[in-house]
This record gives sequence, structure tokens and C-alpha cells, in this order.
Amino acid sequence: MYIIMLGAPGTGKGTIGNEICKKYNLVHLATGDIFRDEMKRKTELGMKAEEYISKGELVPDSVTIKMVEGKLDKLDNVLLDGFPRTIPQAEALNEYLNKTNKKITAVINLNVPDEDIIKRTSSRVICSNKDCGASYNTIFMPPKVEGICDICGSPLIKRKDDNPETIKERLQVYYKNTKPLIEFYEKMGLLESIYINIYSETTKEDTTKKAVEIIEKRK
Ligand code: AMP
Repeated sequence: MYIIMLGAPGTGKGTIGNEICKKYNLVHLATGDIFRDEMKRKTELGMKAEEYISKGELVPDSVTIKMVEGKLDKLDNVLLDGFPRTIPQAEALNEYLNKTNKKITAVINLNVPDEDIIKRTSSRVICSNKDCGASYNTIFMPPKVEGICDICGSPLIKRKDDNPETIKERLQVYYKNTKPLIEFYEKMGLLESIYINIYSETTKEDTTKKAVEIIEKRK
């Protein structure tokens, strides 16, 4: 099974993706998490990625595609979170899947109003343990104990790129490069959108339920 999570930064791709992965036993491949881990370990890839990530820009397609394909080679059941993010990445993924006889099951697009995105990302904290990767929101989805991950007990940290300036840049980048993927996957008959509005109290459980219904229908 191949599931793609689409959506602007801070729409909950990681949180909902995590729930789907648990239910269907999928590997959660989040390109942002991979880059952050490489940055923490100060690898060559990490240092290169940091130049772009710190400014809210995208890591170049050539670097990202090579990295993802290297990981996909070993996987059959996977949820892609944060990839593809550009049309060339989506084309490269299609080519790769055709070559390896694999098919995308569904592309789940999380649709959140911009005002909500800025609020959500400004108050987001993530687990510092890369093998956990849980994400919380100090206002809308706080952990049980402040600053501590409910799941693994590690300290929670703020992402460097979750500051208002970088978020605005990331939203611009989303509109320019990633939003066109909605039409791309609509044309392929794979797109399913879920509308989320935190003020109308859409919960993680509501969104997960809708995502599961989509997967059940398409698998
Ligand atoms: P995320 O955790 O998905 O919000 O990603 C954090 C940052 O990593 C993004 O703002 C980009 O700079 C970079 N990044 C993640 N995925 C990709 C991708 N598919 N293509 C290019 N850059 C990416």
C-alpha cells in the first residue's frame, strides 16, 4: 500500500499519518523528519538541507528524489509525508512506481485555512526522539505533562523553522510549488480531500476516521 499525505505545513500530515501507519502497519516516511535527523547528525546531506530548511525553502529536487528513492527500494507498505512537494518530484515518483510495478492507493489532501495554519505551527512542539516523532500543540493538542512526550517520555522541542517569519515563507513555497499537486493527482483520479477547521472542533480522531474511510474505499 502506498499512501501520500498532501497539505500545507502544519495541517497535521504527520499526526494523521502516524495514526494511519499504526492502523495499516505502514512505514512512515517523512522527508522533513529525515532531513532533521541528518541535520542533527551533521551529515553532508544534513548540512546541505539546513541551508534551505532554515530559510523555509525546499531542498532541491535532485537531492530529495535521490534520498527518497533510496529509502523506497526497501519498502512495500509506506505512507509518504511531505513528499512529493513539487511536480518534478511527483513525476519522478510516478516513474519509479511504474518501474517497480507499485501503485498509489490514495492521495489524502488535508485542507486547513491559512489563519489556522499560522496559529497551529506557531504553537507546535515535537518529540526530540526521532524514533517517536510525535507532534503536539500547546494550545489545541497539549501533552499530558508540559514539555514531555506522552508516548515515550522524551523532552518536547520547538522546530527551528516553526517561527512566524519562516512559516510565512513556507506557505508561499507551498502555494507556488506544492499546491499544483492537487490538480496533478486529481487528474490521476487519486485525490481525496479532508476539510479541517480547528474552530469547528475537528479532532484528530475525526480526521483519522475520514482518512481510514478513504483508504478502505480505495484499497
Ligand atoms: P516538514 O517537516 O515536512 O514540514 O519539512 C520541513 C522542511 O524540510 C521543509 O520546509 C523543506 O525545507 C524540507 N523538505 C521536506 N520535504 C521536502 C521535499 N519533499 N522536497 C523539498 N524539501 C523538503
